[in-house]
Amino acid sequence: MTRIAFLGLGHMGLPMAKNLLAAGHEVIGFDVVPAAVDAASAAGLPVAQFGVDAVSGADVVITMFPAGKHVIAAYQDGLLAAADPGTLFIESSTIAVDEARAAHELAIEAGHRNIDAPVSGGVVGAENGTLAFMVGGSDEDFAAALPLLETMGKRIVHCGGPGLGQAAKVCNNMILGISQIAVAEAFVLGERLGLEHQALFDVVSQASGQCWSITTNCPVPGPVPTSPANRDYQPGFAGALMAKDLGLALQAIEGTGTDAQMGRLAQQIYATFAAGSGAGRDFSGIITDIRDAS
Ligand code: NAD
Repeated sequence: MTRIAFLGLGHMGLPMAKNLLAAGHEVIGFDVVPAAVDAASAAGLPVAQFGVDAVSGADVVITMFPAGKHVIAAYQDGLLAAADPGTLFIESSTIAVDEARAAHELAIEAGHRNIDAPVSGGVVGAENGTLAFMVGGSDEDFAAALPLLETMGKRIVHCGGPGLGQAAKVCNNMILGISQIAVAEAFVLGERLGLEHQALFDVVSQASGQCWSITTNCPVPGPVPTSPANRDYQPGFAGALMAKDLGLALQAIEGTGTDAQMGRLAQQIYATFAAGSGAGRDFSGIITDIRDAS
Protein backbone atom coordinates (compact mmCIF):
# COMPACT_ATOMS: atom_id res chain seq x y z
CA MET A 1 0.00 0.00 0.00
CA THR A 2 1.31 3.43 -0.97
CA ARG A 3 0.30 6.68 0.66
CA ILE A 4 -0.70 9.00 -2.19
CA ALA A 5 -1.59 12.69 -2.21
CA PHE A 6 -3.75 13.39 -5.28
CA LEU A 7 -4.04 17.07 -6.14
CA GLY A 8 -6.42 18.33 -8.81
CA LEU A 9 -9.73 16.49 -8.54
CA GLY A 10 -11.31 17.64 -11.81
CA HIS A 11 -12.72 15.66 -14.74
CA MET A 12 -9.62 13.47 -14.93
CA GLY A 13 -8.15 13.62 -11.43
CA LEU A 14 -11.14 12.41 -9.43
CA PRO A 15 -11.70 9.17 -11.35
CA MET A 16 -7.94 8.49 -11.38
CA ALA A 17 -7.77 9.00 -7.60
CA LYS A 18 -10.81 6.75 -7.13
CA ASN A 19 -9.10 3.94 -9.04
CA LEU A 20 -6.03 4.21 -6.78
CA LEU A 21 -8.27 4.12 -3.71
CA ALA A 22 -10.18 1.10 -5.05
CA ALA A 23 -6.85 -0.70 -5.55
CA GLY A 24 -6.20 -0.45 -1.80
CA HIS A 25 -3.88 2.54 -1.59
CA GLU A 26 -4.21 5.25 1.03
CA VAL A 27 -5.26 8.27 -1.02
CA ILE A 28 -5.81 11.82 0.23
CA GLY A 29 -7.20 14.27 -2.29
CA PHE A 30 -7.17 18.04 -2.53
CA ASP A 31 -8.47 20.67 -4.93
CA VAL A 32 -8.50 24.46 -4.69
CA VAL A 33 -12.15 24.55 -5.78
CA PRO A 34 -14.52 23.68 -2.89
CA ALA A 35 -17.09 22.10 -5.24
CA ALA A 36 -14.44 19.64 -6.48
CA VAL A 37 -13.53 18.77 -2.88
CA ASP A 38 -17.21 18.21 -2.05
CA ALA A 39 -17.67 15.98 -5.12
CA ALA A 40 -14.61 13.95 -4.12
CA SER A 41 -15.85 13.59 -0.57
CA ALA A 42 -19.27 12.50 -1.80
CA ALA A 43 -17.53 9.90 -3.97
CA GLY A 44 -15.84 8.45 -0.87
CA LEU A 45 -12.37 9.95 -1.34
CA PRO A 46 -10.70 11.23 1.85
CA VAL A 47 -9.77 14.90 1.36
CA ALA A 48 -7.43 17.35 3.07
CA GLN A 49 -8.19 20.95 3.92
CA PHE A 50 -4.98 22.21 2.32
CA GLY A 51 -2.64 20.86 -0.33
CA VAL A 52 0.31 20.89 2.07
CA ASP A 53 -1.66 18.70 4.52
CA ALA A 54 -2.30 16.11 1.81
CA VAL A 55 1.36 16.09 0.78
CA SER A 56 2.89 15.85 4.22
CA GLY A 57 3.76 12.22 4.94
CA ALA A 58 2.87 11.02 1.43
CA ASP A 59 5.11 8.57 -0.48
CA VAL A 60 3.84 9.83 -3.83
CA VAL A 61 2.28 13.13 -4.92
CA ILE A 62 0.23 13.13 -8.13
CA THR A 63 -0.80 16.43 -9.72
CA MET A 64 -3.54 16.73 -12.37
CA PHE A 65 -3.95 20.47 -12.97
CA PRO A 66 -5.23 22.51 -15.93
CA ALA A 67 -1.88 23.97 -17.06
CA GLY A 68 1.85 24.33 -16.38
CA LYS A 69 1.55 27.60 -14.49
CA HIS A 70 -0.58 25.84 -11.87
CA VAL A 71 2.01 23.09 -11.47
CA ILE A 72 4.99 25.46 -11.09
CA ALA A 73 3.05 27.70 -8.68
CA ALA A 74 1.87 24.77 -6.54
CA TYR A 75 5.37 23.24 -6.44
CA GLN A 76 6.89 26.60 -5.41
CA ASP A 77 4.13 27.70 -3.07
CA GLY A 78 4.43 24.91 -0.54
CA LEU A 79 4.05 21.41 -2.02
CA LEU A 80 7.77 20.70 -2.38
CA ALA A 81 8.55 22.22 1.01
CA ALA A 82 5.80 20.24 2.77
CA ALA A 83 6.74 16.84 1.33
CA ASP A 84 9.03 14.38 3.10
CA PRO A 85 12.54 14.16 1.53
CA GLY A 86 12.67 11.83 -1.48
CA THR A 87 8.94 11.96 -2.23
CA LEU A 88 8.07 10.86 -5.78
CA PHE A 89 6.18 13.62 -7.63
CA ILE A 90 4.19 12.30 -10.60
CA GLU A 91 3.09 15.24 -12.76
CA SER A 92 0.25 14.10 -15.03
CA SER A 93 -1.19 17.39 -16.30
CA THR A 94 -0.60 18.23 -19.97
CA ILE A 95 1.99 21.03 -19.85
CA ALA A 96 4.81 22.37 -22.02
CA VAL A 97 8.01 20.34 -22.27
CA ASP A 98 9.97 23.32 -20.86
CA GLU A 99 7.54 23.62 -17.94
CA ALA A 100 7.86 19.89 -17.22
CA ARG A 101 11.65 20.24 -17.15
CA ALA A 102 11.41 23.32 -14.90
CA ALA A 103 9.08 21.44 -12.53
CA HIS A 104 11.53 18.51 -12.54
CA GLU A 105 14.44 20.80 -11.62
CA LEU A 106 12.43 22.38 -8.79
CA ALA A 107 11.55 18.96 -7.39
CA ILE A 108 15.15 17.71 -7.61
CA GLU A 109 16.53 20.90 -5.99
CA ALA A 110 14.07 20.37 -3.13
CA GLY A 111 15.41 16.84 -2.60
CA HIS A 112 12.55 14.94 -4.26
CA ARG A 113 12.03 12.71 -7.28
CA ASN A 114 9.89 13.64 -10.27
CA ILE A 115 8.52 12.20 -13.50
CA ASP A 116 6.26 13.75 -16.12
CA ALA A 117 3.45 11.35 -16.93
CA PRO A 118 0.79 13.01 -19.13
CA VAL A 119 -2.11 10.88 -20.30
CA SER A 120 -4.37 10.25 -23.24
CA GLY A 121 -7.68 8.43 -23.17
CA GLY A 122 -9.94 11.16 -21.79
CA VAL A 123 -12.47 10.97 -18.98
CA VAL A 124 -13.69 7.53 -20.08
CA GLY A 125 -10.13 6.21 -19.90
CA ALA A 126 -9.69 7.81 -16.47
CA GLU A 127 -12.92 6.22 -15.19
CA ASN A 128 -12.16 2.79 -16.63
CA GLY A 129 -8.47 2.76 -15.67
CA THR A 130 -7.47 2.44 -19.31
CA LEU A 131 -5.44 5.62 -19.80
CA ALA A 132 -2.22 5.69 -21.80
CA PHE A 133 0.70 7.23 -19.88
CA MET A 134 3.72 8.77 -21.61
CA VAL A 135 6.51 9.04 -19.08
CA GLY A 136 9.67 11.13 -18.86
CA GLY A 137 12.15 10.53 -16.04
CA SER A 138 14.84 8.18 -14.76
CA ASP A 139 14.62 4.39 -15.01
CA GLU A 140 14.39 4.13 -11.19
CA ASP A 141 11.57 6.64 -10.86
CA PHE A 142 9.70 5.09 -13.79
CA ALA A 143 9.97 1.66 -12.14
CA ALA A 144 8.74 3.09 -8.82
CA ALA A 145 5.74 4.76 -10.47
CA LEU A 146 4.81 1.88 -12.76
CA PRO A 147 2.50 -0.11 -10.42
CA LEU A 148 0.46 3.05 -9.72
CA LEU A 149 0.33 4.02 -13.40
CA GLU A 150 -0.81 0.48 -14.24
CA THR A 151 -3.68 0.91 -11.77
CA MET A 152 -4.86 4.01 -13.66
CA GLY A 153 -3.90 2.99 -17.18
CA LYS A 154 -3.35 0.11 -19.53
CA ARG A 155 -0.56 1.33 -21.79
CA ILE A 156 2.51 2.85 -20.11
CA VAL A 157 5.48 3.96 -22.23
CA HIS A 158 8.79 5.21 -20.81
CA CYS A 159 9.76 7.81 -23.43
CA GLY A 160 13.10 8.89 -22.00
CA GLY A 161 14.42 11.52 -19.60
CA PRO A 162 12.63 14.46 -17.94
CA GLY A 163 10.13 16.24 -20.22
CA LEU A 164 10.05 13.50 -22.86
CA GLY A 165 6.64 12.20 -21.74
CA GLN A 166 5.26 15.65 -22.54
CA ALA A 167 7.25 15.66 -25.79
CA ALA A 168 5.56 12.42 -26.88
CA LYS A 169 2.15 13.76 -25.88
CA VAL A 170 2.57 17.01 -27.83
CA CYS A 171 3.79 15.14 -30.94
CA ASN A 172 0.88 12.68 -30.78
CA ASN A 173 -1.71 15.43 -30.39
CA MET A 174 -0.21 17.43 -33.23
CA ILE A 175 -0.71 14.40 -35.49
CA LEU A 176 -4.23 13.95 -34.14
CA GLY A 177 -5.22 17.60 -34.65
CA ILE A 178 -3.88 17.68 -38.20
CA SER A 179 -5.42 14.32 -39.18
CA GLN A 180 -8.85 15.28 -37.83
CA ILE A 181 -8.80 18.39 -40.03
CA ALA A 182 -7.68 16.32 -43.03
CA VAL A 183 -10.53 13.83 -42.55
CA ALA A 184 -13.08 16.65 -42.10
CA GLU A 185 -11.87 18.43 -45.25
CA ALA A 186 -12.11 15.16 -47.19
CA PHE A 187 -15.73 14.56 -46.11
CA VAL A 188 -16.74 18.13 -47.07
CA LEU A 189 -14.93 17.80 -50.40
CA GLY A 190 -16.66 14.45 -50.94
CA GLU A 191 -20.06 16.01 -50.20
CA ARG A 192 -19.40 18.64 -52.85
CA LEU A 193 -18.38 15.97 -55.35
CA GLY A 194 -21.59 14.01 -54.67
CA LEU A 195 -20.00 11.22 -52.59
CA GLU A 196 -22.07 9.55 -49.86
CA HIS A 197 -20.49 9.64 -46.37
CA GLN A 198 -20.74 5.86 -46.01
CA ALA A 199 -19.05 5.25 -49.37
CA LEU A 200 -16.13 7.51 -48.49
CA PHE A 201 -15.84 5.87 -45.07
CA ASP A 202 -15.89 2.36 -46.60
CA VAL A 203 -13.02 3.27 -48.89
CA VAL A 204 -10.81 5.37 -46.58
CA SER A 205 -11.18 3.20 -43.48
CA GLN A 206 -9.62 0.31 -45.44
CA ALA A 207 -7.20 2.34 -47.55
CA SER A 208 -4.04 4.39 -47.08
CA GLY A 209 -5.97 7.35 -45.60
CA GLN A 210 -7.03 5.17 -42.65
CA CYS A 211 -6.46 6.76 -39.21
CA TRP A 212 -8.11 7.10 -35.76
CA SER A 213 -9.79 10.33 -36.86
CA ILE A 214 -11.94 8.39 -39.31
CA THR A 215 -12.22 4.88 -37.84
CA THR A 216 -13.02 5.99 -34.25
CA ASN A 217 -13.74 9.72 -34.32
CA CYS A 218 -15.52 9.84 -37.69
CA PRO A 219 -16.71 13.47 -38.03
CA VAL A 220 -20.00 12.67 -39.79
CA PRO A 221 -22.92 10.79 -38.20
CA GLY A 222 -23.59 7.24 -39.35
CA PRO A 223 -20.50 5.22 -40.22
CA VAL A 224 -19.16 4.97 -36.61
CA PRO A 225 -22.19 5.04 -34.27
CA THR A 226 -20.09 5.82 -31.18
CA SER A 227 -18.33 8.87 -32.63
CA PRO A 228 -19.23 12.33 -31.22
CA ALA A 229 -20.79 13.35 -34.57
CA ASN A 230 -23.76 11.10 -33.63
CA ARG A 231 -24.47 13.15 -30.49
CA ASP A 232 -24.15 16.65 -31.93
CA TYR A 233 -20.39 16.70 -31.20
CA GLN A 234 -20.74 16.38 -27.46
CA PRO A 235 -17.14 15.55 -26.35
CA GLY A 236 -15.14 13.32 -26.48
CA PHE A 237 -12.17 15.61 -26.53
CA ALA A 238 -13.29 19.22 -26.40
CA GLY A 239 -12.08 21.81 -28.91
CA ALA A 240 -10.71 23.90 -26.04
CA LEU A 241 -8.40 21.04 -25.01
CA MET A 242 -7.19 20.50 -28.58
CA ALA A 243 -6.56 24.24 -28.90
CA LYS A 244 -4.59 24.13 -25.65
CA ASP A 245 -2.51 21.13 -26.76
CA LEU A 246 -1.73 22.67 -30.15
CA GLY A 247 -0.70 25.85 -28.32
CA LEU A 248 1.84 23.67 -26.49
CA ALA A 249 2.85 22.15 -29.84
CA LEU A 250 3.39 25.64 -31.28
CA GLN A 251 5.53 26.54 -28.27
CA ALA A 252 7.64 23.43 -28.90
CA ILE A 253 7.80 24.09 -32.67
CA GLU A 254 9.05 27.63 -32.07
CA GLY A 255 11.41 26.64 -29.27
CA THR A 256 13.11 24.04 -31.47
CA GLY A 257 12.93 25.90 -34.79
CA THR A 258 11.05 22.98 -36.39
CA ASP A 259 9.59 23.62 -39.87
CA ALA A 260 6.17 22.22 -38.89
CA GLN A 261 3.86 24.16 -41.20
CA MET A 262 0.88 21.84 -40.76
CA GLY A 263 1.23 21.99 -36.98
CA ARG A 264 1.25 25.80 -37.07
CA LEU A 265 -1.82 25.89 -39.31
CA ALA A 266 -3.70 23.36 -37.18
CA GLN A 267 -2.99 25.50 -34.11
CA GLN A 268 -4.58 28.54 -35.80
CA ILE A 269 -7.58 26.53 -37.00
CA TYR A 270 -8.36 25.08 -33.55
CA ALA A 271 -7.73 28.41 -31.80
CA THR A 272 -10.42 29.96 -34.04
CA PHE A 273 -12.72 26.94 -33.52
CA ALA A 274 -12.34 27.10 -29.72
CA ALA A 275 -12.89 30.88 -29.65
CA GLY A 276 -16.13 30.38 -31.59
CA SER A 277 -18.59 27.52 -31.26
CA GLY A 278 -16.05 24.80 -30.55
CA ALA A 279 -14.76 25.28 -27.00
CA GLY A 280 -17.17 22.78 -25.46
CA ARG A 281 -17.75 20.63 -28.56
CA ASP A 282 -15.69 17.66 -29.66
CA PHE A 283 -12.77 18.74 -31.84
CA SER A 284 -14.18 16.66 -34.73
CA GLY A 285 -16.91 19.36 -34.88
CA ILE A 286 -14.31 21.36 -36.83
CA ILE A 287 -16.10 19.85 -39.84
CA THR A 288 -19.02 22.24 -39.37
CA ASP A 289 -16.67 25.25 -39.58
CA ILE A 290 -15.11 23.82 -42.74
CA ARG A 291 -18.56 23.13 -44.25
CA ASP A 292 -19.84 26.60 -43.31
CA ALA A 293 -16.79 28.29 -44.82
CA SER A 294 -16.97 26.27 -48.07
P1 NAD B 1 -10.12 20.11 -14.83
O1 NAD B 1 -10.07 21.59 -15.02
O2 NAD B 1 -11.44 19.41 -14.84
O3 NAD B 1 -9.38 19.72 -13.45
C1 NAD B 1 -8.23 20.34 -12.97
C2 NAD B 1 -8.42 20.58 -11.49
O4 NAD B 1 -7.20 21.07 -10.91
C3 NAD B 1 -9.49 21.62 -11.18
O5 NAD B 1 -10.51 21.05 -10.36
C4 NAD B 1 -8.73 22.73 -10.45
O6 NAD B 1 -9.48 23.39 -9.45
C5 NAD B 1 -7.57 21.94 -9.85
N1 NAD B 1 -6.43 22.73 -9.42
C6 NAD B 1 -5.79 23.76 -10.04
N2 NAD B 1 -4.76 24.20 -9.31
C7 NAD B 1 -4.73 23.44 -8.19
C8 NAD B 1 -3.90 23.41 -7.02
N3 NAD B 1 -2.86 24.25 -6.86
N4 NAD B 1 -4.16 22.50 -6.06
C9 NAD B 1 -5.19 21.63 -6.20
N5 NAD B 1 -6.02 21.62 -7.27
C10 NAD B 1 -5.79 22.51 -8.25
O7 NAD B 1 -9.16 19.51 -15.96
P2 NAD B 1 -9.13 17.99 -16.47
O8 NAD B 1 -10.04 17.84 -17.64
O9 NAD B 1 -9.26 17.08 -15.32
O10 NAD B 1 -7.65 17.93 -17.08
C11 NAD B 1 -6.52 17.91 -16.23
C12 NAD B 1 -5.28 17.83 -17.10
O11 NAD B 1 -5.33 16.65 -17.91
C13 NAD B 1 -5.13 19.01 -18.06
O12 NAD B 1 -3.78 19.38 -18.12
C14 NAD B 1 -5.62 18.45 -19.39
O13 NAD B 1 -5.02 19.09 -20.50
C15 NAD B 1 -5.19 17.00 -19.28
N6 NAD B 1 -6.00 16.06 -20.05
C16 NAD B 1 -7.36 16.16 -20.05
C17 NAD B 1 -8.11 15.26 -20.79
C18 NAD B 1 -9.62 15.33 -20.80
O14 NAD B 1 -10.24 14.69 -21.64
N7 NAD B 1 -10.25 16.09 -19.89
C19 NAD B 1 -7.47 14.26 -21.55
C20 NAD B 1 -6.08 14.16 -21.51
C21 NAD B 1 -5.34 15.06 -20.75
